[in-house]
Amino acid sequence: FDSLTAPYLINGYSIERTASCGVTLYPNDNADLDTLVRHADQAMYQAKLAGRNQFKLFDPDDDQQTSEKHERLKAIEHGLTHDQFELYYQPKVNIKTGKVFGMEALIRWQHPERGTLQPDTFLPIITGSELESTLGQWVINTALKQLMFWKSKGIELEVSVNISSGHLQSPDFFKQLEQALENYPTVNSNFLQLEILESSALGELEPVSNIIKTCQEALGVRIALDDFGTGYSSLTHLRNLTAKTIKIDRSFVRDLLDDPNDYAIIDGIIGLTTSFNRELIAEGVESTEHGLMLLTMGCFELQGYGIAKPMPAIDVIAWLQSYQPNPKWLAYSQHVHTEKENRIKQFRLVSDSWINLLETAITSSAPDKKYHWPIFDQEKCHHSVWLKRSRQEQLFDDACLDRLDEAHEKLHQLSSQLVDHYQNGSLAVHTQLLDDVKAAHKQLSILIGECD
Ligand code: C2E
Ligand code: CA
Ligand code: CA
Repeated sequence: FDSLTAPYLINGYSIERTASCGVTLYPNDNADLDTLVRHADQAMYQAKLAGRNQFKLFDPDDDQQTSEKHERLKAIEHGLTHDQFELYYQPKVNIKTGKVFGMEALIRWQHPERGTLQPDTFLPIITGSELESTLGQWVINTALKQLMFWKSKGIELEVSVNISSGHLQSPDFFKQLEQALENYPTVNSNFLQLEILESSALGELEPVSNIIKTCQEALGVRIALDDFGTGYSSLTHLRNLTAKTIKIDRSFVRDLLDDPNDYAIIDGIIGLTTSFNRELIAEGVESTEHGLMLLTMGCFELQGYGIAKPMPAIDVIAWLQSYQPNPKWLAYSQHVHTEKENRIKQFRLVSDSWINLLETAITSSAPDKKYHWPIFDQEKCHHSVWLKRSRQEQLFDDACLDRLDEAHEKLHQLSSQLVDHYQNGSLAVHTQLLDDVKAAHKQLSILIGECD
């Protein structure tokens, strides 16, 4: 390279040039002659791309990955032009009213050979490519078309679509959204919500903050911060982004009844959204108990398998017609509850969940059954966090909390004996002990009833 770059003197002019060179090595690159030359050529282009005046060695593994990626991108593009993508819809309900107020649109790929594909199998491939915006546009347009159709049937639902950060920050995003809304003039833009991932991938906050403001103020489109709490800078995001709605991520809801840390996070998020005057929805609500717990904490909008799984658009109307609000949610939300009543309900929910986990773990003999143990550490379980907090809040008599403390300690003593026996395999003893633990749990339940 040094001799090649040495200047030439031609007619008194000094001519300088550089060389870029591509190399491939046989038999490491085990290909025929033509392919070898093509590979060397490819490597030469990489040398040029990397700034010229250098050589690059062809990497057979790398090449395979690039061409695989290229193939997969092409397959997605082909799927898009051949109508293989579909939006499923998952209901969002307000438990206070019992009404279904909206649907989240979730993309699926109806692959001719591989069947229905979930988004995590294909969305990561398009991140950063041009297709990211193209597919995003398709999602917005399809959701608007669906809104228009439902409206024509007299069904008013808010539809939310997920917007990737790359798409959101693409230069044409705003213009294209405006155009899409114009294409569906019967749809009120208030009924379209964009869910934006609350994650570090958001990048620079100022441009994102401007996009959010313009969408809400100029277009009347609603914005929700999705997966809230999972990013590194949730508080900064909440402060700087004016998104109207905050969506609690399902990873916090999943163990809400078993892990006091998740409870604390959700409780914190609910406090913040109230202070910042935002609306709140929780996703991943799988059971009646999840919903009840969220109700006692002050979150009334819910989404999750406990209500319905995402379904094809064509099934939505029939589902809406047969929908019955969860009677336990309705019953609980029809009365105004005092702080004390809510706290008692929470104690019962976490306590029942604790004993259920224990019983399931102890009695499930099949090793393939999925279960996890409740928290045995007496200082870290939900009960103890509840008890500590209740002492601080002074909602309950001290005497009543003292009795609960004592019964709680007993519960843990018995359960640690139970687990010891279980691990040593003495079946007879541990069946007896399980009954004792259940009796101790019952005692807790009686005592909390007396705290009212
Ligand atoms: P997300 O926005 O957090 O959506 C919620 C995901 O949780 C969905 O998975 C949904 O099916 C699932 N889910 C809902 N309720 C429950 C529940 O009770 N339990 C459990 N275990 N899961 C529940 P899905 O449809 O596989 O989507 C995964 C992610 O892919 C979405 O997460 C979203 O980030 C992304 N995504 C989906 N559709 C689109 C789209 O059209 N565009 C973009 N950019 N991203 C999308
Ligand atoms: Ca979402
Ligand atoms: Ca989520």
